[in-house]
Amino acid sequence: MGDKGVCPVCKKDGVHTCSACKAVAYCSKEHQKDHWKNHKLQCRPFDVKSSKNLGRYIVSNRDLSRDAIIMSESPLVFGPKMAGAGPQCLGCYQPVDPGDPKLLLCPRCKWPVCSNVCFGVIHKEHHLPECLVLCNNTEVAEAGNMMYEAIFPLRCLLLQKKNPRKWQQLLSLESHVDERKKDKDINHDVEKIASYICDNFLERLDKGSLPDMSREIIHFICGVIEVNSLEITTGRGEVHALYPSASLMEHNCMPNTKHCFQLDDFKINVFAATPIKKGENLSTMYTHILWGTQARRDHLKATKYFTCQCQRCSDPTELGTHLSSLKCIGVDPSDV
Ligand SMILES: [Zn+2]
Ligand SMILES: [Zn+2]
Ligand SMILES: [Zn+2]
Ligand SMILES: [Zn+2]
Ligand SMILES: [Zn+2]
Repeated sequence: MGDKGVCPVCKKDGVHTCSACKAVAYCSKEHQKDHWKNHKLQCRPFDVKSSKNLGRYIVSNRDLSRDAIIMSESPLVFGPKMAGAGPQCLGCYQPVDPGDPKLLLCPRCKWPVCSNVCFGVIHKEHHLPECLVLCNNTEVAEAGNMMYEAIFPLRCLLLQKKNPRKWQQLLSLESHVDERKKDKDINHDVEKIASYICDNFLERLDKGSLPDMSREIIHFICGVIEVNSLEITTGRGEVHALYPSASLMEHNCMPNTKHCFQLDDFKINVFAATPIKKGENLSTMYTHILWGTQARRDHLKATKYFTCQCQRCSDPTELGTHLSSLKCIGVDPSDV
């Protein structure tokens, strides 16, 4: 009998050990493949935990060496950034010029696109779900209106119908909606987006075509996007995306993970940036690593609603790097 026991599919001796977790063995590669659907949750090297302070967070469940793959997952939803999004192709997020006489339009919804063969415009997972809703929109693309800021929240709302499982996962993400509602400026901005979505898109949908079309759910979604979305720079434009597990990684100014994105489907691959011990919280960086402590903390407080207490933030020298220290250039001789 294999030392990891019997194949969970057929109970014969297990000889092919899962190379990721080494906790289970199969009689054959075929049965390993067949069993992956069940095994993948146990195989992943992290557990999701929750606490009052941190909300939900992620902890490694085994020792990980540097560069070990931690997760590879598809986004729940992705779209143009919310604040200040300008005219862009809804397939690839490349900026477009609405005044360009050669501007191409999506044949169905008449929103600008970069080309008629843009991958994201044709692909059924990318632009198509909202394309059917945008057909009802009569506004013309121009800089400064709300059209593009409303797209990401609209895509989130459409998940209710398009993919109820992903919708449930989105509902489980943190939104800080109560704190956000108390902030006059934020509340005003979200109200503008909510009004735009309701008047231009939802009003024209058949009643009941989405289970929840309330202003409350739009406030919640805008909070989820602001708190959890990760920014992807594609070389053509900028996309923001929400992930079921990667969005749960906590912030640390010395993160123990690093990640990269696949640019065709925005799948995220997360790796260990340092050796990680079993039981360590997995962290990423929500702000800019080369900013000084004051700037990082101000940014985190304003966008993510917490004051970072990490080792780097607690050390005035920022772990000996003196990234925010002022350099004393001595006494001006003319003052002596
Ligand atoms: Zn078997
Ligand atoms: Zn495994
Ligand atoms: Zn495009
Ligand atoms: Zn379209
Ligand atoms: Zn910090």
